[in-house]
Amino acid sequence: MICDVNINNTSQSVIPFLPQNQQMKQKVTIAKGDGIGPEIMEATLRILSAAGAQIETEEIEVGEKVYLSGNTSGIAAESWDVIRRNKVFLKAPITTPQGGGYKSLNVTTRKFLGLYSNVRPCLSLHPFVATKHPHMDIVIVRENEEDLYAGIEHQQTDEVIQCLKLISRPGCEKIVRYAFEYARVNGRKKVTCFTKDNIMKQTDGLFHQVFDEIAVEYPEIENEHWIIDIGAAKMADTPEMFDVIVTLNLYGDVLSDISAQIAGSVGLAGSANIGEECAMFEAIHGSAPRRAGQDVANPSGLLQGAIMMLCHIGQTEVAEKIQNAWLRTIEDGIHTYDIFKEGVSSRKVGTKEFAQAVIANLGKQPLRLMPVRYAKDAQLNLPKYKRKSAGKKELVGVDVFVHWSGEEADQLAEQLAALNNDKVKLSMITNRGIKVWPQGFKETFCTDHWRCRFKPEEGKTISNEEVIALLQQAFSSGIDAIKTENLYSFDGKAAYSLGQGQ
Ligand code: NAD
Repeated sequence: MICDVNINNTSQSVIPFLPQNQQMKQKVTIAKGDGIGPEIMEATLRILSAAGAQIETEEIEVGEKVYLSGNTSGIAAESWDVIRRNKVFLKAPITTPQGGGYKSLNVTTRKFLGLYSNVRPCLSLHPFVATKHPHMDIVIVRENEEDLYAGIEHQQTDEVIQCLKLISRPGCEKIVRYAFEYARVNGRKKVTCFTKDNIMKQTDGLFHQVFDEIAVEYPEIENEHWIIDIGAAKMADTPEMFDVIVTLNLYGDVLSDISAQIAGSVGLAGSANIGEECAMFEAIHGSAPRRAGQDVANPSGLLQGAIMMLCHIGQTEVAEKIQNAWLRTIEDGIHTYDIFKEGVSSRKVGTKEFAQAVIANLGKQPLRLMPVRYAKDAQLNLPKYKRKSAGKKELVGVDVFVHWSGEEADQLAEQLAALNNDKVKLSMITNRGIKVWPQGFKETFCTDHWRCRFKPEEGKTISNEEVIALLQQAFSSGIDAIKTENLYSFDGKAAYSLGQGQ
């Protein structure tokens, strides 16, 4: 189903949803969070209740208190049971204490529950909320489970730490299809893909390739690809050029905050985290601890999350009623401090008073902003990922990463030459990706982390046993081999990056 399609041609995208029996109350797990969390949750729930939302809340405790009680995940095992049973989770922001190995509960929740799609609509409310971009109406669809957020990091030498960037075909297919389906059911015209595949040809390259593959299935929707750096610059400068943006996790994280901020304020944006089974809805901002307990915070971000939640559970009429009342309140100039502007706003209010004003406007429509009308019967077509048949995978070499504190790559190459045998030979050494042997530049700065590539003769393969023998030889020659990466070809195509400058 769809929760967008507006009267006339302006849209306010929310989230396509699962149809539910509107007579029955939907159980929703709520967490009031930390900092301003409890205040904005209370305001949001008051508005939902006044509007007639058919929900029954079940509260769990997550966040700072749980972390500080010694639970590094920030959530108790019983709370997971509640979240998994109810399937719909409305979460206020939480504080992750600094240091102490505390894991981000947001990232854990998204990944545990398979919430692969993070949807963040960013709409400007000109002229009622100050923005340089009066015609901005972007939806960022961010991949939510992969990328550098796998959080797999290792220190390997005195000088070098690595973080693994993992990108999968199912991950790319699911999020790209979600973006196109979202565009289709919301009547959106264009999907733009942002990657950095000029540098990360394998990982970002896969995302771009999958985007191109899926785009052809949606001929009615325009598609384009931008390199993220210039694309992000364009988005910040002329956001009206963009409609739906789909991108990888880290880029999406950064872009969506920028996009919400330039639309008016991060305090106004909500987000939906959608999976095949469960969904979580939240504000995009954090717990703003300095504003806590003062009745000043803007509850709009969480309210926007809650509106997407209502759409998701099929309560589109209530969602519509709240959104139109909220738009009317913004239009009336009843603003919290973060968006208050002399000459534009009429009254500066606190959290409670803002909620009261929205409640008073329930049933009213905005007069100048476009009222919303959410369609009730559209469905996203999101088939389950089907694993492709396995390719022909051959081992065609190995990168041995070496911890070595010397400075001249030629000297390291001399030492490594002792490992050459009739199966594999040293073919290249790189340092932080750039080729330093053979024929490196003396100007290239080198750390103590060296990638040493061993390959068989062109067109030949090697065996795992030969890799193990190579490593044994390395250790007995006093080489500090810190890790290996096998070099594979799939269906005859090399599936690893060349050295920079190779
Ligand atoms: P923040 O978003 O909490 O606050 C940044 C600033 O934005 C605040 O000082 C405040 O001036 C303003 N602001 C944010 N939300 C507002 C609102 N609703 N109304 C009015 N003003 C608002 O970011 P931060 O200070 O970097 O992070 C604070 C804590 O929040 C950290 O512990 C961080 O880990 C956590 N955090 C949680 C989430 C989440 O739970 N989803 C997201 C981001 C940050």
